[in-house]
Amino acid sequence: MEQKLKILLLEDVETDATLVQRELTKAGILFVPCCVDGREGFLAQLSEFRPNVILADYTLPHFSALEALRLLKELSSDVPLILVTGSHSEEVAVECMREGAEDYILKDSLRRLPSAVLNAVRKRAGERERRAAREALRRSEEQYRLIAENTRDLICIIDLQMTVLYASPSHRSVLGYAPNDLLAKSISDVIHPDDAQTWRNTLDEALFLKEGRTAELRFRNAYDHWQLFESVVSFIFDDHGRPQRTLVASRDTSDRKQAEREIRKLAAFPRFNPNPVLEFSADGSLTYFNTAALEMAKSLKRHPEAILPLNIATIVKMCLTTGQNTLHLETLVNGRTISWSFFPVIANQVVHCYAEDVTASRNLEAQLRQVQKMESIGQLAAGVAHDFNNILTVIQGHAGLMLADPKIGGSFAESARQISAAAERASTLTRQLLLFSRRQTMQPQLLDLNDVIRSVSKMLRALVGEQVRICRELNPELPAVNADAGMIEQVLVNLAVNARDAMLPRGGTLTLRTFVRRIDDEFVATHPEAKPGYVIGLSVEDTGHGMDSSTLSRIFEPFFTTKEIGKGTGLGLATVYGIIKQHQGWIDVRSEIAKGTTFTIFLPASSRARPKAVADTATQINVPGGHETILVVEDETPLRELVREILEKKGYNVLESATGLQALKLWEARRQTIDLLLTDMMMPEGISGRELAEKLLAEKPSLKVIYTSGYSMDAVSPGFTLQEGVNFLQKPYPPNALTKMVRERLDVA
Ligand code: ADP
Ligand code: MG
Repeated sequence: MEQKLKILLLEDVETDATLVQRELTKAGILFVPCCVDGREGFLAQLSEFRPNVILADYTLPHFSALEALRLLKELSSDVPLILVTGSHSEEVAVECMREGAEDYILKDSLRRLPSAVLNAVRKRAGERERRAAREALRRSEEQYRLIAENTRDLICIIDLQMTVLYASPSHRSVLGYAPNDLLAKSISDVIHPDDAQTWRNTLDEALFLKEGRTAELRFRNAYDHWQLFESVVSFIFDDHGRPQRTLVASRDTSDRKQAEREIRKLAAFPRFNPNPVLEFSADGSLTYFNTAALEMAKSLKRHPEAILPLNIATIVKMCLTTGQNTLHLETLVNGRTISWSFFPVIANQVVHCYAEDVTASRNLEAQLRQVQKMESIGQLAAGVAHDFNNILTVIQGHAGLMLADPKIGGSFAESARQISAAAERASTLTRQLLLFSRRQTMQPQLLDLNDVIRSVSKMLRALVGEQVRICRELNPELPAVNADAGMIEQVLVNLAVNARDAMLPRGGTLTLRTFVRRIDDEFVATHPEAKPGYVIGLSVEDTGHGMDSSTLSRIFEPFFTTKEIGKGTGLGLATVYGIIKQHQGWIDVRSEIAKGTTFTIFLPASSRARPKAVADTATQINVPGGHETILVVEDETPLRELVREILEKKGYNVLESATGLQALKLWEARRQTIDLLLTDMMMPEGISGRELAEKLLAEKPSLKVIYTSGYSMDAVSPGFTLQEGVNFLQKPYPPNALTKMVRERLDVA
């Protein structure tokens, strides 16, 4: 023993003390003795000397070993006391042992003393160690108990049969169970059936790997709802490595999951925003951009960083320092206009940015301006054409009169012919002006579409240019349609121009086709615009660049164009659409990118037979006249006089009037004799030709009416379309056209 034992001797006889010490020394025990012989000394040395062992005589003059033992007990001292006595009394021995003496040695056989001392000391040391260990264990257990009982996590210990051995109090606050509710129950009862397999797999893994495994499990709470947990499953093994129990520590992740869902939901806003969204940190660096931003940058063949405004750092800094938004900052990248708006988020020291490619709307604005310009030009053109037509009618009329006069011959007649031809050419010009300004009147007649196609072929040839081959596949058995030839021509022209543009610059083939089709109810069910019966199809097919679906969905919108400013007005197809609608027809479009496009218009077939080629009214000299009375209403004096001259030459009685009001006065007086009203549609002084005609017709239904106009009836009185048989004379007109129409009209029963 390295350290000297401290031995307290409670002995009044000095020789006995010496004997005892000698015996110990003899046995090789190193020790420090301290002798006392009474209660006071004993108590004092107990705390001062702090002996490892006490050797006590049984009887002392004023003290005893028994008293010493009791004192030790009172002081709860664990210093071992060995009784060394001369007495052989067994009662003494028993009594002392009962009071806690460690051993009992007789003075006359001290040989056993050293081993008794050593034993006592060792025993005490062992006891102390065990006690310390017990204490440490208790403390550690206490610590774990506190952890288990105060955590929000669920701590549960189960045996290998899944029976719950321990459930932490948190089961009450988290799941609503009193911990005892679960005891002796199977944990499988609270695990969601769909998670049973996961649970078993996790147990297997934890057992096999001998380490904690994590699983997401749903537990049934006391209110029969499922709650999601993240559970760590670990096995507790015995000394032989055999599994004893399983510890399941579970954390309620519903809140976290909810938060994650919330974050994901919020994050989806910028992510799936179809518009570019970006975020900048305080130093102006780009910290986030969504897919739309990436797409926009890609379409400009750049990285998002590379399309930002140049002074982005300054903008961001300004936003953050002033707290003000910066809105609609426009930059030009690769010919496109991007508009940027910046919104500072002071709390996070970031700036949110929304970008938009506004090229299209800027273009649209420009196009709109262009269209408006075209509209005003159209109006101007229409006005000029109107006045011009009146003048041309006079010129043509007088030239016609001269030609019809047998007294005029030779070079005068030739001049009259020249004048007439020039007026004819001029009227073609005004007709084009009217087409351009869309001030055309619908004059339906029975037509063979093949004829219309043939008659515009020459013009189309010139329109599409040399690069484009024109093919015609015309069905010779085509029924007639009731249509306005001029308008159908315009449709063909518009479609052909678009086809040409789509085939630029390489050219291609333009195919014009006509065919007949019977439309049944089944077809109508899937094509709301279609009408059952026989229809005539007219298709215009090109081998151009085609259209994507988004373009296709908008082509008939007025002003929709994909062409650059000055090239397209976006009115071509809108006009086509309007015309075909007006004809009770519909349009079908097929298009494939890089392959070409086919526009097919369908018009109802007329049940009437197709007319033989219409005779040219201008060349028909011998139109019969008559003696009926005609009221001519025309504000343009030279024209009115011309009409009078023409009609009087044919034998008619003519009453003239410059305005509607004047005409009404004449009507009052001559109502009985007037057979036909020839009136201009547009007249000064309030009352229009149509109103006048309606008024007179109301009073005399047998009255015949012929309208004339320099331009469209739509422009004069919208919504009033001429029916077949209602006569309308488009200015300028040759004298024969007038007399023929007058005669025909008067002859209608
Ligand atoms: P514009 O020709 O002035 O653009 P339109 O109304 O005639 O106006 O046509 C509208 C748009 O429809 C065109 O800009 C073009 O994008 C598309 N389009 C029309 N016809 C064709 C075609 N044959 N092939 C490809 N695209 C066409
Ligand atoms: Mg066009």
